[in-house]
Amino acid sequence: MTLSSTTYALIVHGGAGADPALDYREQEAHLRDLISQGQDRLLSDESALDTVVALVKDMESCGLYVAGKGSAPNREGAVELDASVMEGASQKAGAVAAIQNALHPVEAARRVLADGRNVMLAGAGAGAFARESGLDFVEDPQAYYVDHVKHGSKNADAGHGTVGAVALDLSGNLAAATSTGGTFHKMAGRVGDTPVIGAGTWADDTVAVSCTGLGEFFIRAGTAHDISARMRYGGASLREAAAAALAEVKRLGGNGGLIAVDRLGNIAMPYNSKGMKRAAASHQAAPVVRIFEPE
Ligand code: ASP
Repeated sequence: MTLSSTTYALIVHGGAGADPALDYREQEAHLRDLISQGQDRLLSDESALDTVVALVKDMESCGLYVAGKGSAPNREGAVELDASVMEGASQKAGAVAAIQNALHPVEAARRVLADGRNVMLAGAGAGAFARESGLDFVEDPQAYYVDHVKHGSKNADAGHGTVGAVALDLSGNLAAATSTGGTFHKMAGRVGDTPVIGAGTWADDTVAVSCTGLGEFFIRAGTAHDISARMRYGGASLREAAAAALAEVKRLGGNGGLIAVDRLGNIAMPYNSKGMKRAAASHQAAPVVRIFEPE
């Protein structure tokens, strides 16, 4: 099948797990804006990679999610951030893990991808690389980070706020990006699925995936790559593959959700937590913003 130049698809998420008792109107409005911004970018021929990085950067700076500005400190009081990005056509990937005070961890991940020598840099080395790359850092962490735990989201199920974006651009290229402050009250040095290529993030020329949820289970299930494998070797549709991969997370005892777009512009955004903040649009579907509704 030949892709028309009008085929595109875009999904963003602001994390699996939401508390029905909390008011998410601000996040919903923000997700709506993001989708419209993303549509404009893709329709003006921006690449999927540039689009997903730009949207995740926006989510990192707004403080509404547990990523970037909204990240909670770990048990030692430090904010440690994970992010990754992957480009489908080239299968080039970049990731940073447990990086401190980078203003945009996803941009650091993108620089790792562009640099090409490594796929993942962690801790102080990731920070040094980001500084050498000229990226911005938070000068006053105490003043910058918004601690959601202090703002009432104590419910463990509301404790996921990872952000992510997946896109198919007008040239038929797929890309995925994910960024997080990790789980609330995590141990120092704990790294979840978000920067692990194949677990929290994946893109090839079949599908682009960004996951959110209890990261340890997504790593053990290899979730993001599992979706591609089910489609490529098993002939599953995007929806079947996404549902089956998430069922594996549940079988292991975890929960969460994911967003995925395939090369035909189909979209999937299943979850098995208490809701997932997400929004989507494509050449064949008007923009939608969802939190608690079924997929
Ligand atoms: N998956 C993230 C992690 O385990 C958390 C989340 O999605 O909220 O670090």
